[in-house]
Amino acid sequence: MSTPVHFPHIEKTNLLGLNRQDMEAFIAELGEKPFRVSQLTKWIHQMNVSDFDEMTNISKSLRAQLKEKACIKPLTVIVDQISKDGTRKWVMGLDDNNQIEAVYIPEDDRGTLCISSQIGCALDCSFCSTGRQGFSRNLSVAEILSQVWLATRLLDEEKKPGRKITNIVLMGMGEPLLNYDNVMKAIDVMLDDFAYGLSKRRVTVSTAGVVPAMDKLADRHDVQLAISLHAIRDELRDDLVPINKKYNLETLIAACHRFMEKRSPRSRLTIEYVMLDGVNDSKQDAEKLIEVLQGLSVLINLIPFNPFTGSGYGTSSNNAVRRFQDVLMKAGLTTVIRKTRGEDIDAACGQLVGKVADKSRRENKFKVPRLGMNT
Ligand code: SAH
Repeated sequence: MSTPVHFPHIEKTNLLGLNRQDMEAFIAELGEKPFRVSQLTKWIHQMNVSDFDEMTNISKSLRAQLKEKACIKPLTVIVDQISKDGTRKWVMGLDDNNQIEAVYIPEDDRGTLCISSQIGCALDCSFCSTGRQGFSRNLSVAEILSQVWLATRLLDEEKKPGRKITNIVLMGMGEPLLNYDNVMKAIDVMLDDFAYGLSKRRVTVSTAGVVPAMDKLADRHDVQLAISLHAIRDELRDDLVPINKKYNLETLIAACHRFMEKRSPRSRLTIEYVMLDGVNDSKQDAEKLIEVLQGLSVLINLIPFNPFTGSGYGTSSNNAVRRFQDVLMKAGLTTVIRKTRGEDIDAACGQLVGKVADKSRRENKFKVPRLGMNT
């Protein structure tokens, strides 16, 4: 259960940060009837209204109370770019001068919004440019949902058919499972029929492997889980995804089994595997991956590495990626190669950097370029 929220009314409550339970508490404190919760939720998240005066079916007296005690305050859009492939990226500014990024990726049959859960990231994965920026803090529920609220509104303003958000992935900046409580509340609202009403199959949490939070998630939300695996030997994974030193492969894979035992037999776990030239892309790596994943129902996503200056890694050749995919497919594992989208506007995986007031001193560490990572 999440902790109850108290509303001391010192500051206005940003309604973008309230899930149904919190909204019920807020409305009760105002002395209003519970049915107002659904009305307000619809105005905020379905009608995308930020001005209480537009809420015409809400009494004038309640509107006056809301104006005094609450606000609907999204983040500030600082950069808004559309790629030639239709991908749209926003840089959004926060009150403390940090910036985060969100990306909309249109495909034939869906529109996916990729959102951030933290400012920067503490995990320090060696192939991810967000990690290089260090870590500032967790995003609040309002800051997470603000990305969805703004993207919905701005896509709607395009007035182009089909530019809708049908899926949300927590694959932007940050590690969602290290901001567990806020991310769970934000997901409550994504799934709420009076808000975004997304199906649980269309919301994906991506994790580098925060094992205790994976166990909690299994009981809290029936959403999709993606594991950023990337390596099948501890020695290599320690280097690529350093949280592996805390929760090693054996521990992580055991957690995946526990997670899937709580899911319906038809559901699948997504395995993300970034293809790094000469590092993790050999035939032997593919064979070992099959072994590691034995007994798990998975969908494998091979992600071509998106290079950035000073990363020290190279992108696997198309041939290497296809050969890797072939080995997996022959073993009966559904494997897709993720298309790189929005490269021209730096919106691809691992390219989201925002502006992070780093509190981890990570930046200093990277003044010396990494060497020899490809050997
Ligand atoms: N912390 C979470 C979510 C953010 S990263 C996680 O680790 O899953 C989202 C995905 O992008 C992860 O699978 C990550 O490994 C991948 N990624 C990061 N940097 C990348 C890069 N430079 N090229 C391709 N994929 C990258």
